Amino acid sequence: MKIVLKNLTKIFPSRNKKVGGEVIAVNDFDFEIPDGKLIGLLGPSGCGKSTTLNLICGLEPPTSGQIFFGEDDVTHLPPENRGVGLVFQNYALYPHLTVEENIMFPLQNLRGKDRLTREEMQQRVRQAAKLVQIDQLMDRKPSEMSGGQQQRVAIARALVKMPRVLLLDEPLSNLDARLRLQTREEIRRIQQETGITTIFVTHDQDEAMSISDMIVVMKDGIVQQIGPPQEVYDDPANLFVAQFLGTPPINVFNAAVKRETLYIGDEAVLEVPGVGDRPVSAAIRPEGFIPKAGGRFVSKLERVEVMGRDTSVVSTHPESRNTFIRSIVPANAKLAASGERVSFDLYPNKVFIFDAETGERIRFKLKDGDAQ
Ligand code: ATP
Repeated sequence: MKIVLKNLTKIFPSRNKKVGGEVIAVNDFDFEIPDGKLIGLLGPSGCGKSTTLNLICGLEPPTSGQIFFGEDDVTHLPPENRGVGLVFQNYALYPHLTVEENIMFPLQNLRGKDRLTREEMQQRVRQAAKLVQIDQLMDRKPSEMSGGQQQRVAIARALVKMPRVLLLDEPLSNLDARLRLQTREEIRRIQQETGITTIFVTHDQDEAMSISDMIVVMKDGIVQQIGPPQEVYDDPANLFVAQFLGTPPINVFNAAVKRETLYIGDEAVLEVPGVGDRPVSAAIRPEGFIPKAGGRFVSKLERVEVMGRDTSVVSTHPESRNTFIRSIVPANAKLAASGERVSFDLYPNKVFIFDAETGERIRFKLKDGDAQ
């Protein structure tokens, strides 16, 4: 089921009575979520992720705009008629019910033509439990299960009604690091097995990048960029997106373009054909550095951290906006360090430049003639 948001806007009166005014939590969202895909809504706290989910499932009415599921305009449909399954951060299971009873609960409230017999309900519950691999634990109570198992029960409970759309709001936040990894892969598997269009909200870019077919990066209620995770990472639309994606984060410098050359401080670090003279923000991905004696980018070596396959070279530079510059190079690479100085050449496709004021991307031509 594809989902279409058409000029969707949600304005709240400000919670801060003293200041007054209003908050545009969702500002003119206009995009399509393709059928059967997993979409990650990604952005810092307060950017409007939960509000977007609440609008899609019908818990909040929009201020303006429309929501379509397929060809159906569901904008004014109550939540129970939208066919949406919801999973929140806190699993919200009934503590006195067993796993089986928890999963069955939504089916017991079905009325009229949707009403199911006891056998039909049991069969649906078995299917959902099997899908999330908790069918061995049907008689347990929530308190007898791990956080990850409880979250699976919550997912089974959302799936049992065979929703058209599955919405997951920070479903992994309550899990420890290892379970988070495991459960996110589980969510991917379940989504692929069921083919249900799924929207996954998170502030964790790693999480969104690793399992989504498409990510929507948001800031202050405004969509910044939409696309497959790798594409957005490789081709950020602005400085915010470039900084939000990637671990370690991208290295940002105060810089300038003069005579189609990028200068960081006094060093001419890269040719940027097609860009006029101007101050810019330059950003270099950690994997964009090539250790090289006499390389064009020179920084002050602070330390080298060995991380197995790779080495992280930590250095500083007066024009760096990050306290430390992190360069990730292969463990067997020979560092071009002399005294305190370490030098690199740069991979042009790992360097981005942005307008110094607005942060909008400024594209330059790469050597083989392709524009960035
Ligand atoms: P988080 O990651 O912290 O949950 P979020 O990205 O989900 O944040 P939202 O909860 O959607 O963000 O909030 C977006 C903006 O709208 C915030 O500025 C928030 O304070 C505001 N907001 C949300 N709900 C209301 C409300 N009921 N009344 C007033 N303001 C609200």
